Amino acid sequence: HQVLITGGTGLIGTRLTTLLKERGYSVAYLSRRKENIPGVTVFRYDVATNFIEDGALDGVEHLIHLAGAGVADGKWTTERKKTIIASRTETIGLIAKAVKERNIALKSCISASGSSYYGQDTGDTQHTEDAPAGKDFLATVTVLWEKAADQLAHLGVRTVKLRTGVVLSKEGGAIPKIALPAKFGLGAPLGSGKQWMSWIHIDDLCRMYIEAMENSDWEGAYNAVAHPPVTNKALTLHICKVLGRPQFLPNVPAFALRLVFGQMATVVLGSNYVLNHRITSETNFIYEFPEIKEALENIFNS
Ligand code: NDP
Repeated sequence: HQVLITGGTGLIGTRLTTLLKERGYSVAYLSRRKENIPGVTVFRYDVATNFIEDGALDGVEHLIHLAGAGVADGKWTTERKKTIIASRTETIGLIAKAVKERNIALKSCISASGSSYYGQDTGDTQHTEDAPAGKDFLATVTVLWEKAADQLAHLGVRTVKLRTGVVLSKEGGAIPKIALPAKFGLGAPLGSGKQWMSWIHIDDLCRMYIEAMENSDWEGAYNAVAHPPVTNKALTLHICKVLGRPQFLPNVPAFALRLVFGQMATVVLGSNYVLNHRITSETNFIYEFPEIKEALENIFNS
């Protein structure tokens, strides 16, 4: 296999695999569980025992690192926070060690990262890639995650980190959850509704992974977002429109969300305005879905 994907079983990995296979690549996954996935060889790994199944790294040219425990999948207890970090850093650490010991000549490592690198809630401040990292929990996760990916860069592997905004997909992630109340005619902005959400359509993101893998000009960190971002209020309106549902409810107060979700409420209440500066100024990447309206129409109507 030419491409080895960690966390390939997830939302992004599944779509990316389809696109990679369409382009003729052979794909394998490095997973915590042995699963039967048609057209993909699945190799097991276990960080606790320092185990990577035999054959996983044979012939690999490109590594794609998507593994990570869901940030919005549970309350941020101390234990959960540790898992969120370790699931991103230890997997790639294990691979970097194996790559070094076995002298594997990887051509590239493309790692997921988050647009929360600059902070979970930064109001109207716009961030390009050279802006400093934030100091809160999600920013810390992202800094450690990128540092872990850089272990491969230190071994001489061309390493790209895609600081990804909220991924728009019908199959999972944030959008089906955000759209659920709207489906029942209960669409309402969350908190003030003025918070910015940086976003990207899943197909554009997956095409970006492939471009970053194939084109050796790509190196370092890129903001993987479309432009412009959307406010929560505008997003809610667009979703209601696309679904043909009215939007008449008042905003859901922030305190209620914090009561239910704890610290994790920042995922929907935080404001994140990220600019795709390097993508637009240094690459020839063309977005299929640069506008939120078309992106949502594609997701809900296709
Ligand atoms: P998913 O949650 O769909 O899948 C991630 C994969 O990570 C899983 O399939 C699983 O693979 C592995 N995983 C889950 N929990 C753990 C754990 N505790 N320890 C180790 N591995 C684990 O994620 P997405 O496909 O949505 O995202 C991929 C990456 O991109 C993630 O790192 C995510 O943070 C990042 N990203 C995603 C965004 C989004 O909106 N979707 C936005 C910004 C960044 P397996 O069971 O095979 O081991």
